[in-house]
Amino acid sequence: MQLKNNNLLQQQAFINGEFVDAKNGNTFNITNPSTGGFLTRVADCGAEETEAAVLFASVAFQEWKELTGIERGRILRRWYELMMDNIDDLATILTLEQGKPWSEAKGEIKYGASFVEWFAEEAKRVYGDTIPGHQRDKRIIVLKQPIGVVAAITPWNFPNAMITRKVAPALAAGCTCVIKPAEATPLSALAIAQLAREAGFPPGVLNIIPTNKAAEVGKVLSTHPIVKKLSFTGSTPVGKLLMKQCADTVKKVSLELGGNAPFIVFADADLDAAVDGAIASKYRNAGQTCVCANRLFVQEDVYDLFLQKYKAKVAYLKVGDGMEEDVVIGPLINEKAVKKVEHLLEDAVSKGAKKLLGGGRHELGGTFYEPTILADVAVTMDIHQTEIFGPISPVYSFSDADDVINMANDTPFGLAAYFYGKNIDLIFKVAEALEYGMVGINTGMISTTVAPFGGIKESGFGREGSKYGMEEYLVKKYLCLQVETN
Ligand code: ADP
Repeated sequence: MQLKNNNLLQQQAFINGEFVDAKNGNTFNITNPSTGGFLTRVADCGAEETEAAVLFASVAFQEWKELTGIERGRILRRWYELMMDNIDDLATILTLEQGKPWSEAKGEIKYGASFVEWFAEEAKRVYGDTIPGHQRDKRIIVLKQPIGVVAAITPWNFPNAMITRKVAPALAAGCTCVIKPAEATPLSALAIAQLAREAGFPPGVLNIIPTNKAAEVGKVLSTHPIVKKLSFTGSTPVGKLLMKQCADTVKKVSLELGGNAPFIVFADADLDAAVDGAIASKYRNAGQTCVCANRLFVQEDVYDLFLQKYKAKVAYLKVGDGMEEDVVIGPLINEKAVKKVEHLLEDAVSKGAKKLLGGGRHELGGTFYEPTILADVAVTMDIHQTEIFGPISPVYSFSDADDVINMANDTPFGLAAYFYGKNIDLIFKVAEALEYGMVGINTGMISTTVAPFGGIKESGFGREGSKYGMEEYLVKKYLCLQVETN
């Protein structure tokens, strides 16, 4: 691995400010999904190391929470600056372990760092309230205090940003953190741990537990009485399991789970803009984001024209190793992901969908998959109810707004939705009727630090980023003071 700063390649757990091996010395392999080649070995921690990290985080919390928001913000700001100074190396590590194109990885590092910058500033603004008393001799004050030790369990599709989006607000609020990164992508997490050390976070404030034993480590994080909050991004079944495990100690929980995003194109839309928006939303990260367009609904009057324009552009998306220039679609994360995509495609085609483009493994082999467009998709197909997590665009036609709203909402998920159209009355009708936490209107790109990211229904709850993001890590305490009046 060619890095300018070799300190960023860390293979051990980060516990109490030190990089340490697993107690039993076990390690597991990290591979490059583009080549299938071996990258390095990383400490394989278990329950024991996780419990130790929780205890260190608990000790560190006592002092960290006493700093002013300004003091915590300064350290976060330094962390942000170090991330930006090392952006090329962080992007290289990310591309090598995750597969996304290097320029896209750089985009993720910027996006991830933007949460650290944002919450470095928000750290100063944890305002409480004063409430006019309910009796003449009562004074009421509301304090916001950090909830305590926070556990974060994060996925492989955004190995950097899904961590910063959780830990930046937690640390700004005065909490301390124990993070379990995804088994496929611990290197990005450990690289920012190294930068956290350089930024001056006291030992124990931020801990990272790499592991190939997700269930064992997850059990400790979701049941340990010292952990007061669990924030999870990942699949819906694992989110539901963790929520159940958190019940016994009544932890505060945030869940950012699967999506099944509709992308609707009305007949009066700017079709070229809709094509670009759909490509940006669908094919980013090879279709492996929870806000990726999962079902494209196009109004019948413009259905053929949209497909023609869409196919013309999608056909030119270059697939390959993310470290190669001009590549815009990398590999899928592993063989299981390819098998899932293959099943969805076969099921759809067997029920009448037409392959307009692609439709199989890419000639590069490995876990590369062709950018694919399926036309004439119907609600009876498995793909209608499943988060694809791959580069397939299933396209449906629809007749009117009520028809498409019903189809779009016909899913237990409610994360992101998109639509393109010009009629202002229709814009409000559709925006209000879509049962989703986030709606992109005439845009396919909605993720930003300044807005609240999160879902409804089985896509979870809790919001990340924005002025709302820190609330997830704070508890309110109200003081009721009786005073003498005369
Ligand atoms: P994906 O299918 O995208 O890999 P997962 O929900 O399996 O989604 O993974 C998201 C995160 O959840 C990863 O860090 C993974 O290691 C973790 N995870 C998976 N299973 C469990 C579990 N039983 N307990 C705790 N964490 C888990």
